[in-house]
Amino acid sequence: MSDKQANLYKKATQEAVDHLVQPWPSAGSIGAEARGMLASGEGVYVHDENGRRLIDGPAGMWCTNVGHRNEVLAETLKEQAMELSYNSPWYTTNEPSAELARRIAEHAPGDLNHVFFTTGGSTAVESALRFAQFYSNVRGLEGKKKIICRDGGYHGSTYLSASLNGSQRSRNWMDFADEMMIRLSCPDPFRRPRDMSLEDFCAGLVTEFADAVREHGPENIAAFVGEPIMASGGVIVPPEGYFKAIRDICSANDILFIVDEVVTAFGRLGHVFASESCFDVVPDIITFAKGVTSGYFPLGGMVVSDRLLDGLRASNHPEAMFAHGLTYSSHPIGCAVALKNLDILEDDLLDYTREITPYFHEKLKALEELELVGEVRGMGLMACIECVADRKSHNPIRLDTEVGVRIDRHCQELGLLVRPLVHMCVMSPPLVITRAQIDSMADILHEGISRTMRDLR
Ligand code: PLP
Repeated sequence: MSDKQANLYKKATQEAVDHLVQPWPSAGSIGAEARGMLASGEGVYVHDENGRRLIDGPAGMWCTNVGHRNEVLAETLKEQAMELSYNSPWYTTNEPSAELARRIAEHAPGDLNHVFFTTGGSTAVESALRFAQFYSNVRGLEGKKKIICRDGGYHGSTYLSASLNGSQRSRNWMDFADEMMIRLSCPDPFRRPRDMSLEDFCAGLVTEFADAVREHGPENIAAFVGEPIMASGGVIVPPEGYFKAIRDICSANDILFIVDEVVTAFGRLGHVFASESCFDVVPDIITFAKGVTSGYFPLGGMVVSDRLLDGLRASNHPEAMFAHGLTYSSHPIGCAVALKNLDILEDDLLDYTREITPYFHEKLKALEELELVGEVRGMGLMACIECVADRKSHNPIRLDTEVGVRIDRHCQELGLLVRPLVHMCVMSPPLVITRAQIDSMADILHEGISRTMRDLR
């Protein structure tokens, strides 16, 4: 790297410290934080400010599905900006958003046939929640407003979407619409009592759900919102049959079943949507973001069932307004990029993801031979390595050991970016990852975890 380039990155780092407020800062470092700078990316790799090449283990934040520096997407951004860079969705429509809505509807399960576009995942979930409230109001069910969510879930950073979040750490110092939420247990099989079967664990969760509906009254509950796999909660795959059972309870009680596929949609599990393909449920609303543009443009949205829209159109309140929209809803550049991204997925990347998935899990599962590793779990190209103090009892490791951060630091030295989550590490590489790159990833993780174990001795 030239001296000039090195000086540019140094200057940018100082500018960030002096002027940038980074996401999720702590009070002690807010507005004064130097985070590692990435300079460029290509395929599954990113390059840091020193020109070092690293495998992008988390694909940014579960999003760069087609990989970095995809020329087709880059060209599309430019072409659409030269054609129509923006139009107000209040008064007009653009061609890419209409075509994208049609193509998303073709992939969506059941009668989920209309799409509302947003700027990302939080705004997608926020839109779904506001829609659920509107749907109750227009039907004259003004009391039907509570939302069922779960410990361990993550749904965003706007007020309502964040109110669903289930991580205690993120809840300590912020305000939330807690009065609206009914919070249930995390469906984490690894943390079930050691002597309980998976079937009993699942039955217990379903009973808890049914009891909560009875206790609060279906007339007071608008919706359930959940991720098919809790991504940021640690890639938690619920027990088999769980979703189908709670879907049935929702259907029987006129409770909207909203599935947050911000992470799982657009390829991560080898399908455009995972709800039906992987979990055998047809939701009332699906939210999506991230992989829809592979992170090349901020875009998200919700796909809504025609049954709900038909119900609204036939209601006694045709004058009722869904007073909700964003300046950047249906952004033409984002939608044009998403169309090309979907072409790439449909052409062969979905097939490839399903094909490479078993190898990815085989290689990562082998890390369970390391004493620190309690479990490696996942589905599709999503995996989590959970560290424990004791493998027999699954006793959690002390949080102040900062085991995730340590593993990430060691892995970065060895050429791999990891997403640390306290005592866990999450891997969700770009879907274009090859077998050889999976081998490197697994080797680096093995060494990074081994070095961490030596640190902790
Ligand atoms: N929903 C899920 C399942 C997520 O994982 C995230 C972000 O990680 C969000 C919603 C929020 O998306 P965004 O950060 O694009 O607002």
